[in-house]
Amino acid sequence: MGKLTRGKGGRFRLYKGIRARWLVNSLGLVFMIVLVAVSAYSVAAANYYTTGVMANVESNARATSSFFSRYINTSRDEFFQKAYHYAEEFSYKERMELQFINLYGRVEISTMGPTVGVVPGTPDVQNAFKSGQMDSYIGVEPLSGERVLSVSAPLMFGGNQIVGVMRYVTSMKLVDRQVLLSTGTAMLFGIIVIIFVTGTNMYFISSILIPIQEVNEIAKKIAGGGYGARIEKKYDDEIGELTDTINNMSAEISLAERIKNDFISAVSHELRTPLTAIAGWGETLLSADMRDMEEVKKGLRIMLGETGRLTKMVEELLDFTRMEGGRMTLQVEPMDVRAEFEEVVYLYMDTLAKEGIILTYEEKGDIPEIEGDRARLRQVFLNILDNAAKHGGDGRRIDTAIIAEEDTVTVRVKDYGAGIPPEELPRVKFKFYKGSSKARGSGIGLAVSDEIVKLHSGSLNIESTVGQGTAVTVRLPLKIGEGYAAAPEEAL
Ligand code: ADP
Repeated sequence: MGKLTRGKGGRFRLYKGIRARWLVNSLGLVFMIVLVAVSAYSVAAANYYTTGVMANVESNARATSSFFSRYINTSRDEFFQKAYHYAEEFSYKERMELQFINLYGRVEISTMGPTVGVVPGTPDVQNAFKSGQMDSYIGVEPLSGERVLSVSAPLMFGGNQIVGVMRYVTSMKLVDRQVLLSTGTAMLFGIIVIIFVTGTNMYFISSILIPIQEVNEIAKKIAGGGYGARIEKKYDDEIGELTDTINNMSAEISLAERIKNDFISAVSHELRTPLTAIAGWGETLLSADMRDMEEVKKGLRIMLGETGRLTKMVEELLDFTRMEGGRMTLQVEPMDVRAEFEEVVYLYMDTLAKEGIILTYEEKGDIPEIEGDRARLRQVFLNILDNAAKHGGDGRRIDTAIIAEEDTVTVRVKDYGAGIPPEELPRVKFKFYKGSSKARGSGIGLAVSDEIVKLHSGSLNIESTVGQGTAVTVRLPLKIGEGYAAAPEEAL
């Protein structure tokens, strides 16, 4: 067991272990049970046949010896006459031998002539003489070398004096053959059971191992870089479930791979655009005659603006790595969330107006102070407003509102742009994920915002309908939950 010959490159190495374990555990037990059952049956059969024959011969011996003991009271002649007569008439001559043994231990009368005069070598004869009780023996008869059953019963004179022994001897050949036959049959039955159980077990193991082997082949391909490879689902059971899981995993890996590549190209693009503008304006200013101060100022403003974009981008990336490493921390203090949100909205108002986008702002209720990190929350507000303008600007209108609720403050930014397709919606908060929107971006803004809101024990929800627009709702509790205090510590 254990040496497999099929397959190349150790294809079966994995299964060898399962097969070996299975066979040892399951068949080992069956084998033990069969062995015990066959042995028990054989012992019981041997006992049954032997005790049957012995009981039969012993009851004969008992009856005959008491019959003869009665004659010993009369005369020796009469006794022997009776014994001869009895021996002649003995009707079981074929099956057993009847002997009358004298006080010297020699056979005096026998139903089988040749044994007359010999001394039987089995211990039952001596025991019967010694103890005055009937005794039996099963074993090899030294004279004939044959296995026999020998029963010796003493013949008593006057009730207490032994004058001889009468002995029944029968061959054990038939009994032994019967026992052997029974044991053989039981063993054959046991072997059939083991073969049957082994066969069904092997079939069952193969029915598991072959599909696992197929699944393993594809899983190896996926592990080796064949992202997106799929396994054909042939079975509708646990193996089928495994197939589905691996297929899903493969699809997820291939999506993650695509997202990573898209991210690298998006970030490169994001960095290159401002750099191109800065370099372009640098050259222009260098070759200009510096007398047109307006032109110089315009160039410097653009260069500063582009540098700001680069800084924002790099900061976003740094925030992202902090978030990934669990090192993002908050500077928590009581803060006026209303003022912060209003400032961000008004900051955008003019810029958006120039692009022909109306931005509205509304306050509902008396907005209380909350516990939070001013700079981080500002970052979240900027991000969702930026997204509304960037991805949903076509709607030409963005409605913002800050609402006081029982123990939360809700900030809502709603645009009327293209919206997010339902299949993209569950993924937009994933890192690197950029949806079908053509607008620029690295795909990490919402991931970072969501993390910041979570650190405030709040929630960031996105609802969207294609063609109608997107609404982002940020809910912030008045106090940061207890879970927060430990989180940054752990992360350090
Ligand atoms: P980025 O804006 O840098 O691409 P985000 O993480 O902020 O990354 O957004 C992820 C994706 O979600 C965007 O690429 C876009 O497809 C989609 N998205 C976010 N906000 C909006 C919105 N207001 N309207 C439509 N799509 C949006």
